[in-house]
Amino acid sequence: MTSSTHSAAASLARFQTLLRMPTVSRLDESSTDWAVFDGFVAALPALYPALHAVLEREVVGGHSLLYRWAGVEPGDPAVLMAHYDVVPAGEEGWTHPPFAAELVGEGAEREVWGRGTLDDKGALAALLEAVEASVLAGVRPRRDVYLSFGHNEETSGTGAKAIVRTLRERGIRPAFVLDEGGAVVEGVFPGVRAPSAMIGVSEKGVTTITLTVHQRGGHASTPPRRTATDRLARAVVRLGRRPFPARITPTTARTLRTIGEHATGPMRFALTRQRLSGPLLLRVLARLGDETSAMVRTTSAVTQLQGSAAANVLAERAVATVNVRVAVGSSVAEALRHVRRAVRDSAVLVEALDPSEPSPVSPASGSAWELLSSTTTAIFGEVIVTPYVQLGASDSRHFAEISDHVYRFTPFEMTTGQRGSLHAVDERMHVDTWLRGIAFYTRLLRGL
Ligand SMILES: [Zn+2]
Repeated sequence: MTSSTHSAAASLARFQTLLRMPTVSRLDESSTDWAVFDGFVAALPALYPALHAVLEREVVGGHSLLYRWAGVEPGDPAVLMAHYDVVPAGEEGWTHPPFAAELVGEGAEREVWGRGTLDDKGALAALLEAVEASVLAGVRPRRDVYLSFGHNEETSGTGAKAIVRTLRERGIRPAFVLDEGGAVVEGVFPGVRAPSAMIGVSEKGVTTITLTVHQRGGHASTPPRRTATDRLARAVVRLGRRPFPARITPTTARTLRTIGEHATGPMRFALTRQRLSGPLLLRVLARLGDETSAMVRTTSAVTQLQGSAAANVLAERAVATVNVRVAVGSSVAEALRHVRRAVRDSAVLVEALDPSEPSPVSPASGSAWELLSSTTTAIFGEVIVTPYVQLGASDSRHFAEISDHVYRFTPFEMTTGQRGSLHAVDERMHVDTWLRGIAFYTRLLRGL
């Protein structure tokens, strides 16, 4: 065994140790097993001793971690982010158990299985490996580098918010922020053969909209002509029949153009000649798949329905919970107006909870962008590097308050099957992919 395969094996073993700790985020944080989180935080110094000898570490907002690696020069720092909480996973349905970190397959096909491999302990462990190796190699960053590790990204993100508050109070304005986000993917667009490195320069907003109908209750044996639940059902159906308007923003236009230049046939024409193909293009994107459809509009999904507590009791209060992802260029207020118009019923109360507006757009040019795209090309070779609007929400949205250069990119190649395992059963990643992620962060650190 050569020394490099030996160190890769040791790195992988440390990653497996982190994967085996079920740091599961629960929406109701009182049911979170915080002892597991304490154990995770306590395990890190022994796993990455060189890093912990050189970087300062503080615990922020309960269980989030903020590390500072002092640079040799003054100047605005960089922040590299990840989160160590994961979404719940029962054993049910998994081919290999979610918290065993089993290695399956041989050679280039070898995969590490488990909850958190892709989201987001893979990035966290790769970052730790890159910094540990850099410290051991005597590297010092030019400017300060912070590592920001959230503990509740999957639920509220209060940890990342607390870190942003801490940095702001110290007058720190990061010149560069990188969090999880797009990956190196294939097959998003038909007719495009080369893989694309999707770098998020913004993300959609998110809010929960509730539809509520109040009515006098009573026995289900003498129902009124229209019950609260009938009204609510009608509202839900009406909302489903009226999708949000589709629109191509400047960022999405650039994504399509960049990818389109590598496409063949009619796809190339549609993507690169948007002025000619505009309305047609919107229709094509809406039909291509759920992902491309979500790229061009605000989306809504009814995720929860609530009626009465008993089978023979009329609901006094019927509630539908709608998860809404707000397109860049739109707003929570605009989404609310659309839902009210769609529902067309003054007896249905429409309210927005926890509104989070779409993020400002970070520039896809300039030194921060160039560093990110040149590092990506150096590590992944022939890939199409493109900015895009991230569909899901991440902790990085809080950093837009203190930085104009917030990027969302997870430096891993993900197959369609692997992407489908995010937040689902059978989450897994190729071992070689993870090792390449370490190389990405190591190279990036030298450019910061
Ligand atoms: Zn995540």
